[in-house]
Amino acid sequence: MAKFMQRNVEVEVVPAHLPASAWSATSIESFLGCPLKYWWSKVQRWNTPSTVPLVVGTSVHEALENLLALPPGKRTPRAGEEFLAAAVDKTLRSVSGQAIDPAAVTERAQRAMGAYWDTEDPGDVEVASNGIEREVKADIGGLAFRGFIDRIAVTDAGLRVTDYKTGAAKPKYWWGYWRQQLLYAHALGLGDEPIAEVELLFLTSPRAVTRPVYGAAVQRALDDLDVAHTEREHMQLTQVWQARTGPLCNYCDFAPACPAKRSRAPRPGTAESDELLRQQGLWQREKPAAAIG
Ligand code: SF4
Repeated sequence: MAKFMQRNVEVEVVPAHLPASAWSATSIESFLGCPLKYWWSKVQRWNTPSTVPLVVGTSVHEALENLLALPPGKRTPRAGEEFLAAAVDKTLRSVSGQAIDPAAVTERAQRAMGAYWDTEDPGDVEVASNGIEREVKADIGGLAFRGFIDRIAVTDAGLRVTDYKTGAAKPKYWWGYWRQQLLYAHALGLGDEPIAEVELLFLTSPRAVTRPVYGAAVQRALDDLDVAHTEREHMQLTQVWQARTGPLCNYCDFAPACPAKRSRAPRPGTAESDELLRQQGLWQREKPAAAIG
């Protein structure tokens, strides 16, 4: 089997201000995966078209959020089905006009919800106080951090943070999944809510994986946050951002304008580069302010 060669390519961009926003677990993941892709989405504020997996993920998360908010005795498969139908309908309406196949969404969402019941009985889950879709904000080593936690539950071991995963469990991304949960656990611990365990519930091939929260793993996650912040500062200062090629380039909406993938691609941030992205169906939320540089 051919191996995908990973390369780091330095790309000079049109200078733009970095918005002052907190780090989140997903933005760390995005930055460490490919800084240039991060630059396009967070600095240049390009939106990418939705996909069936994204719509399924949003719908299933919302259905589970509503199901777990019910008293334990009322968390029935029937209630789950009703919440799912409403969530699919709402999410599809939010992406109307985009090329999303509603039948594919419904089928995959129902399959994920069916798999959920193979991983746990929601009637057995003791949801912690304010334990559903909890927003967490913390100052981690001087860096603002923010995120939303799917669920916090009370278990025999103590508090457990759980994340629902509607995508396939890919071993090469395993650490990224845990990093997210460990940062949430650390942030809650700073607010005097010590977390004993983190858990991933995979809903494609039903599987629940639980890990204890221990110091060395949390430190590794904190080190990643530190590395991401330091590298981002440097790239913003120099306005030279790194493109990290890898298997995800095959699914990257920015590939047609990416200098690491196309030898004659225009400098990112120019009108010519923007036009290439528009032709791919991407749209800019707002034009970023130009930076001196
Ligand atoms: S195509 Fe690959 S290297 Fe280029 S921005 Fe996308 S992920 Fe990064």
